[in-house]
Amino acid sequence: MPADIPSPGGARYARHAALGKIGQRGQRKLSESSVLVLGCGSIGGAQAMFLARAGLGRLILADRDYVQLCNLPTQILYDENDVKERAPKAEAAARRLRAINPEIKIEPVVADVTAANIEELVGQADLVMDGADNFETRFLLNDAAVKAGKPWVYGGVLGTDGMVLAVRPGQGPCLRCLFDLPAADGRLPTCDAFGVLNTAAAWVAALQVTEALKILTGAEPDGYRLHTLDIWRGTASPVAAERKPNCPCCGRRNFEFLKPA
Ligand SMILES: [Zn+2]
Repeated sequence: MPADIPSPGGARYARHAALGKIGQRGQRKLSESSVLVLGCGSIGGAQAMFLARAGLGRLILADRDYVQLCNLPTQILYDENDVKERAPKAEAAARRLRAINPEIKIEPVVADVTAANIEELVGQADLVMDGADNFETRFLLNDAAVKAGKPWVYGGVLGTDGMVLAVRPGQGPCLRCLFDLPAADGRLPTCDAFGVLNTAAAWVAALQVTEALKILTGAEPDGYRLHTLDIWRGTASPVAAERKPNCPCCGRRNFEFLKPA
């Protein structure tokens, strides 16, 4: 970094501030931004780590689960002490992230995210990261974010494959423009049954966080794409994604997942 460029926040963010794509202005915007990380498992934990290191102003971490031994190969924020303590993931993640970056606000929320609390959680953030492990929660988040006009970044991983989509309400497609309603219980494969490779989760999280940093620093959208990743083959395939004019969520604004059953 040239000596005549001061680094905002001291030396900590010098490498990001030196990046033309972020710069001091972008770094300042990040320091003024709030992000909700919904789910702190394999992809959510990696998202939270990258965001905390990048100097977000405020991170809200929502997860209802406790750290288990089978989480350690894929969930990079946790260790054996968290397993022994049966620590809630949101609290264990907050503890780890505060040790990484004490300059930012980190708020753990140990709770199940449902139609009863999602709008309040989304309302506190400028952007939401999807770290959920099921499509029901993602459709709920899609409804709440589109209704509030808040951007969110979808990310899913299964086995060695992943998908990423940045949703910018009012501009590009939402999740329901691209995917139909979730299948009935038990018909969708899960990581519990199908497995997940830790590097696939990290790759999905890295791409999601990059999309989030672009939105939060005010970068112009360079198209709307659904990214399909296969880390075993080393391939990434972006496919142009378009809004459906009759989309029940962003088209007709019928937020059915937010309504009580
Ligand atoms: Zn839509």
